[in-house]
Amino acid sequence: MAAALSSKASIAQAVACGTPARRQARFAVVRVNALAQKAEYIWYDGQEGQAVKGAVFNEMRSKTKVLQKPITSMNPAEFPEWSFDGSSTGQAEGKNSDCILRPVYVCPDPIRGGDNVLVMCDVLDAEHVPHETNSRAKLEAIINDKVKEEAPLFGFEQEYTMLAKGGHIYGWPAGGYPAPQGPFYCGVGFESVYGRPLAEAHLDACVKAGLIISGINAEVMPGQWEFQIGPTGPLETGDQVMIARWLLHRLGEEFGIISTFAPKPMKGDWNGTGAHTNYSTKSMREDGGMKAIEAAIERLSKCHPEHISQYGTGNEERLTGKHETCDINTFRFGVADRGSSIRIPLPVQLAGKGYLEDRRPAANVDPYTVVRLLIKNTLL
Ligand code: ADP
Ligand code: MN
Ligand code: MN
Ligand code: MN
Ligand code: MN
Repeated sequence: MAAALSSKASIAQAVACGTPARRQARFAVVRVNALAQKAEYIWYDGQEGQAVKGAVFNEMRSKTKVLQKPITSMNPAEFPEWSFDGSSTGQAEGKNSDCILRPVYVCPDPIRGGDNVLVMCDVLDAEHVPHETNSRAKLEAIINDKVKEEAPLFGFEQEYTMLAKGGHIYGWPAGGYPAPQGPFYCGVGFESVYGRPLAEAHLDACVKAGLIISGINAEVMPGQWEFQIGPTGPLETGDQVMIARWLLHRLGEEFGIISTFAPKPMKGDWNGTGAHTNYSTKSMREDGGMKAIEAAIERLSKCHPEHISQYGTGNEERLTGKHETCDINTFRFGVADRGSSIRIPLPVQLAGKGYLEDRRPAANVDPYTVVRLLIKNTLL
């Protein structure tokens, strides 16, 4: 680090600026900057954007804060709040445009390396009230002692589709289609799998960032992939999914690949893109937990419309009853049934305990919102 900063270029730059006194000052600045660490402040805007292949509800945003001291802690409370121009992200009016970024989760920055960090933030308005787009605060508000006692865990299967610049699905023949679906899910080989270098780089980055990522796989539609975050607690799930989404977009800059979370990027006989959310409580994980799983499903069956209304933009194009989904207006559950709304995995049925899988959320769902609805409608 020191060697790099006292390189010939920096010294030449310092020497080039004027009188001996100013030269001295300039050197001092160069030395102080040797301590500087970069913190990438990340947030989501809650704006419908990304015109490419349909809307994505949460657009990731970030900017870099240079901290003039070494970073010695990953405690978000030790990072300063910051602000941004909310009028440029659809979060404020131009006349009163400042929004506050409050650090909530900090991890190593796997791209910059060194002691640099990523800082996930939630958004407050100028009066320090959670912004209306701040779904994290809404989740935090319902976590009471009863919820904590049940120690809910989530496994979030984040599917996404890779696009080339211009919106063409990555790896698909120009102006045409690949072979029909069949060989692509968990596939291997040059003719079946498109975009693995980005998926691998993303997995590496998530691991280096210390995220709890449990795997990746190529999906049913070629050019479509999945990574899984979890099992993680409620807030952690949202924070880590958001950082993983940001990393995917950021690495896409290097690979020249756009990742979209649009629920149905390709009309017709092609699978949509979802975010199955696996969910368990302490009662479900204990012996005889099937009873708690069934009770949770019974309660979920009564608030299907509420979930559907918040499970992603454009999800109606995906939940058709075909392509491993249940029709959007129907609530059905079943063991090992991939055409259900809620699936009980076969190993869970055999063990009589474990977790359930909510198959309804679209890939562009807000993870804090799925987690909040599952907790609210099964535990509270
Ligand atoms: P699928 O067979 O549906 O493709 P995946 O293996 O992709 O399932 O994802 C399952 C997810 O469920 C993983 O993220 C895993 O960590 C998570 N998971 C496993 N056990 C639990 C549990 N008890 N509670 C919540 N999530 C769990
Ligand atoms: Mn500016
Ligand atoms: Mn999966
Ligand atoms: Mn999948
Ligand atoms: Mn699944």
